[in-house]
Amino acid sequence: MVNWISELQPTEWPEGVIENMDPKILTAAVDLRTESGVAMTPSPIFEGHVRKIGNSRHSINNGKRLSDATDFFVKSDVSSIYKVIQAIHRIHEITGWGIYFDTKPSVMFHIDCRPNILNWIRVSKEYIYAVNDPSMYYAELSKQLENLRR
Ligand SMILES: [Zn+2]
Repeated sequence: MVNWISELQPTEWPEGVIENMDPKILTAAVDLRTESGVAMTPSPIFEGHVRKIGNSRHSINNGKRLSDATDFFVKSDVSSIYKVIQAIHRIHEITGWGIYFDTKPSVMFHIDCRPNILNWIRVSKEYIYAVNDPSMYYAELSKQLENLRR
């Protein structure tokens, strides 16, 4: 169902998550890897992909739905982050996405297939949603990218 590529394999996700995930988000992840040309490392944490309960797109609601969200790390450099952002815009299945500047070992992206578009950044555990405050969103994104150049 998913056309895996050598640069991104299902074995890179934690054991037991793939079968709880919508093939749509996995296909989107493969497309993003191809389109961006940037190495993506799926989070080693189970909950970075599948959660039993909750309102997150990661939630499987006790098995009543599939997760349509996945988290992955990219190299913390401006060029890689920029390429991933540009590629996200070309993959229409990705409707929700967030960039986490406060994660280890590097910058993390969340992508999902929610019904409506939503995007955000997270800085020092604080979420900044583009729709709520576009000016602050772009200013903070700019600041974070600037920080990575140091
Ligand atoms: Zn996530």
